[in-house]
Amino acid sequence: MSEQKLSSQEIFALEDKYGCRNYAPVPVALSRGEGVFVWDVEGKKYFDFLSAYSAVNQGHCHPRIVAALKKQAEKLTLVSRAFYSDQLGQYEKFMTELLGYDRLLPMNTGVEGGESACKIARKWGYEVKKIPENQAKIVFATGNFWGRTLSACSSSSDPSCYGGFGPFMPGFKLIPYNDIPALEKVLQDPTVAAFFVEPVQGEAGVIIPDAGYLRKVRELCTKYNVLWIDDEVQAGLGRTGRLLAVDHEGLKPDIVILGKALSGGMLPVSAVLTSHQVMNVITPGTHGSTYGGNPLACAVAMEAIKVLLEEKLSEKAAKLELVLREELEKIPKSMITSIRGKGLMFAIDVHENYPAYDLVLKLRDAGLLTKTTHGQTIRLAPPLVITEEQLRQGAAIIRGVFEKFNK
Ligand code: PLP
Repeated sequence: MSEQKLSSQEIFALEDKYGCRNYAPVPVALSRGEGVFVWDVEGKKYFDFLSAYSAVNQGHCHPRIVAALKKQAEKLTLVSRAFYSDQLGQYEKFMTELLGYDRLLPMNTGVEGGESACKIARKWGYEVKKIPENQAKIVFATGNFWGRTLSACSSSSDPSCYGGFGPFMPGFKLIPYNDIPALEKVLQDPTVAAFFVEPVQGEAGVIIPDAGYLRKVRELCTKYNVLWIDDEVQAGLGRTGRLLAVDHEGLKPDIVILGKALSGGMLPVSAVLTSHQVMNVITPGTHGSTYGGNPLACAVAMEAIKVLLEEKLSEKAAKLELVLREELEKIPKSMITSIRGKGLMFAIDVHENYPAYDLVLKLRDAGLLTKTTHGQTIRLAPPLVITEEQLRQGAAIIRGVFEKFNK
């Protein structure tokens, strides 16, 4: 089967016939990736300006991460947590020292990181904050996205995420994003255990809160003895121009969730980091995952983070933000209503007269891949290994497509 050479059309038809139609992919069938480029099965080359929603910050098939993957795959891949491996403890030490936390809980997907953070927060709420049994609440912000489990759907304000999936998880509350008075009001409820929030809302369309919002979140969570859960699954690991997005304001959340680029796109690896006091509410037998913390994931994650640090990818994203902004400002003003960005996490809101999905298809034809979110928003998030010249080339493709569309 893997030897059979299929055309793009055959690949679309196969998925359409045999798969669950839970996605509507841009029609392009990829078979190879290297750095900022991907190739389709017919050999056409594209700039990847989505980076698997920021999972491929280090670029496709980064040779160092591939080498770490191969080396570990030939030695030991999985023992489950029934036994120790020679990788997990080293990885936990490396990550906690790097980020300034005491302990790390290894999981797989980003949403499992979020689920785990919610479980930890509830248990902390009962055991440490002394919230009466079964009354703990977790507060979320509207526009959040943290995955597709029933808990994630239960905390969503987006009908396409939660519609048809009730009944929902009790004990979840929504307040508007970027709204400090609403946060202060809800935190006064003594049964609130945690506030779970993205430092930049990715799926909502790169929504950047006001300067000082996160600092106020820190202050209020401290004041009301509520855990601040910082979902850095998409915005973290260099994407916004700092290792963590909260580093822009020098803040330390109580719990940090990482995922996506933690493996540089190799396999699902997520992590929850926190203090001794908070993590120690989890005891043997109360939480786990067969694959969580597997030696393959640990070896790959350590190398993926070393690549981020040694290639100074956060610093690069910060510098290239200015270049991308300068280039995008040249798009005809009549076609866009807003451009937002931090580091190399950008979104363009396209004027309603110009269907954004049609623009995405024209971008694909011109050799650049990206995707819309919420109808008229186009996201731009190239791998952070992109050079300034490549970024300008990509931006020129975007500008050219917009200008042609405008005629
Ligand atoms: N958190 C954030 C901020 C995300 O953007 C996502 C996915 O897009 C997730 C969590 C869920 O990650 P995963 O799809 O790996 O479960």
